[in-house]
Amino acid sequence: MSAASPTDFPIAIIGAGFAGIGTAIQLKKAGIDSFTIFERAGEVGGTWRDNTYPGAACDVPSHAYSLSFEQIPTWSRRFAPSGEIQDYLRGITDKWKLRKHMRMKTEIVDARFDEAAGSWTLTTGEDETFTARVVVSCVGGLVDPALPDIKGMQSYSGELFHTARWNHDYDLAGRRVAVIGTGASAVQVVPEVAGEVERLDVYQRTASWVMPKRDKVYSEGYKRLLARFPALLRASRSSKYWLTELLGPIIFLDNKRLAKIGERGSLAHLKHQVKDPELREKLTPSFQYGCKRILISDEYWAAFERPNVDLVTDPIEEIKSNGIETRDGSFREVDAIILATGFALGLASVPFPITGKGGRRLEDTWKDGAVAYKGMNVAGFPNWFILMGPNTGPGHTSVLVYTEAQIAHTVAAIKKIENEGLRYVDVRQEVQDRYNERLQGRMKHMVWSSGCNSWYLSADGSNHSLYPGFAAEYVLRARPFRVRDYEVVA
Ligand code: NAP
Repeated sequence: MSAASPTDFPIAIIGAGFAGIGTAIQLKKAGIDSFTIFERAGEVGGTWRDNTYPGAACDVPSHAYSLSFEQIPTWSRRFAPSGEIQDYLRGITDKWKLRKHMRMKTEIVDARFDEAAGSWTLTTGEDETFTARVVVSCVGGLVDPALPDIKGMQSYSGELFHTARWNHDYDLAGRRVAVIGTGASAVQVVPEVAGEVERLDVYQRTASWVMPKRDKVYSEGYKRLLARFPALLRASRSSKYWLTELLGPIIFLDNKRLAKIGERGSLAHLKHQVKDPELREKLTPSFQYGCKRILISDEYWAAFERPNVDLVTDPIEEIKSNGIETRDGSFREVDAIILATGFALGLASVPFPITGKGGRRLEDTWKDGAVAYKGMNVAGFPNWFILMGPNTGPGHTSVLVYTEAQIAHTVAAIKKIENEGLRYVDVRQEVQDRYNERLQGRMKHMVWSSGCNSWYLSADGSNHSLYPGFAAEYVLRARPFRVRDYEVVA
């Protein structure tokens, strides 16, 4: 592995987003320097590098949506904008001198395990090969834009782009614009562009539950206080975390009485933001609170009160060269179409061909749904660690809580393999099966299975994306590397 210092214990990290950078920092802290980070893009940051659309921000407060071991007191506001999160990731990359470990613009396209050597051979898009004893897959879940399959889309002659591939060279000012989709990305984009464009048509297939955001700018005095007393920053983080845990069951349990608490709060917010009852009716979701991701915004619903913004609820029939036709026969001419249609694949997908012990392919192993032990290890794929893998997504709190537990687990395993000169560790099939049986048993009690459609679910309706429970519980399970759960081969 040429980019890392010469070593007989090479580690490959694939992806330089939060998970990859966090893993690299913890490896350094553990005194392990023999890693290379492969990144297919030209810069670190993952989702925060790619999502630069107007209004892009995290919907988890920054004191919680940052690494606990790399907290900063300087966040400008409660919910930092995307660019600031990207600066944070660049900052910690430089602070820990991680760039010398990185191979940018290097996409891994194939991985193959050599059982005799206890190592993985990774192949890049340029057909180079690298050998690593351990691979930490940090490729992220919501990366590649999902482009809708709408009749005629190819024939559209205006400007068309996805939120995660925003065309900053195209000036929306004074244009007639359509936004397709009303999920987490759309609620951020819509209010931002509404004031800029001549006309905005928002195409809603399914209404979303939206809660108030209560964002605020942090004063210089407050930031100085946090810098002087880091315990205050830790307390801010911790209070936000425990509040989301406390409220979690309202969001993740399939319990109509609990869901009503959230629904009432959201409907009160809607009533406050939208005066027209007919419009309110169209914006009211028909599925149980929490079944899709809860959105937060103080401006999204209010944007529909603007005279230049229209909510279109008739299904799209066809995109023509100059506009969009809906099933009721209406045609709206537009200069630009913004696809806020989410992402392909997800946490439960195989990013490229991965061949483990005895030639087994991850694609085949996961053909009936992605399963892993604690979301990280798959039997038959030794020394392969997945961060943000199957059933590790939260519906109610910061994903980084889960990621940090996975990093701790992975670093502990790497130390064990390296220090004891092991060839490999491979999770025991029966341990993995037992873990997933219990997990799927609990899934039945979760709201995501209550009848709505979302990226959480696979095509057959099963859920291999989210963790069915509290974050604290996952962390307790996932952090330790319990060697008895693995076949250990010296
Ligand atoms: P999303 O939640 O999957 O929403 C996609 C939207 O596009 C939905 O409203 C969907 O309608 C609509 N859609 C898809 N195909 C369509 C079609 N053919 N015709 C009409 N409408 C169509 O995607 P997202 O908003 O990009 O968010 C994805 C995830 O990214 C979120 O759940 C979240 O985890 C993450 N995210 C996070 C933040 C943050 O602040 N932390 C911000 C943005 C995104 P249906 O609902 O009917 O399917």
